[in-house]
Amino acid sequence: MVTADRISKSFGSNNVLRSISLEVQAGEVLCIVGPSGSGKSTFLRCINHLEKIDAGRLFVEGQLVGYRQKGDKLHELKPKEAALQRRDIGMVFQRFNLFPHMTALENIIQAPMRVKRIPKAKATLRARELMERVGLGDKADHYPAHLSGGQQQRVAIARALAMDPKLMLFDEPTSALDPELVGEVLDVMKELATSGMTMIVVTHEMGFAREVADSIAFMDGGVVVESGPPRELLGNPQQDRTKAFLSKVL
Ligand code: ATP
Ligand code: MG
Repeated sequence: MVTADRISKSFGSNNVLRSISLEVQAGEVLCIVGPSGSGKSTFLRCINHLEKIDAGRLFVEGQLVGYRQKGDKLHELKPKEAALQRRDIGMVFQRFNLFPHMTALENIIQAPMRVKRIPKAKATLRARELMERVGLGDKADHYPAHLSGGQQQRVAIARALAMDPKLMLFDEPTSALDPELVGEVLDVMKELATSGMTMIVVTHEMGFAREVADSIAFMDGGVVVESGPPRELLGNPQQDRTKAFLSKVL
């Protein structure tokens, strides 16, 4: 489903990603953990081509992300073509980024109506289903300011799902939340994983990673130091850097 093949990316002289290779099968959950500045967000942003990569190739469902191959040369897609690829990939950020002047429901129907030209009545019906799914059936007409952080983040997840993505990317979706609100968001993500969604989740929630991930990748200094099923990576890490990191977070 997702193949990262020796991805490298620099900002000036800062080599943020150094030959990252990872694979995620359809229906699997990959959690990415690692210290601040290790390149986790940058890697996620490369997957939906919000960042250009300097070397390597990324595939989502067999499709080369951001480029078209002609012979052995790569040509960058035009912004419109890249946007077309991106609409199959949902992204949820640390900050919920809901439109403040729209109700929860209006937030959810925007993209399906504008991007996919789905009629309002149909988009609204689907949005109500999604609000139910994330446990907010009674909050459709609330404005973001009148929702808790956890509720806002669940609306953000429903908004991403409204585009029927093939892949969901989460970048520390719970780290801006008060501790008592983390669980309700993780529960929604767990349900999503169980339903078969392919997910890549950058997180510090090691309990979630242990329980939900099919594999965990530990990143440090722009490389994947080690990756494997939770039981192996958390229970029997091979690399000293992984051991040192885990001793701080577990
Ligand atoms: P955190 O856990 O703090 O979110 P991260 O692992 O997500 O960290 P990134 O945000 O990917 O790390 O950043 C990796 C490195 O790339 C950092 O040194 C950061 O300063 C740098 N960086 C990220 N985005 C940019 C940018 N747009 N321009 C320049 N440097 C950037
Ligand atoms: Mg980050």
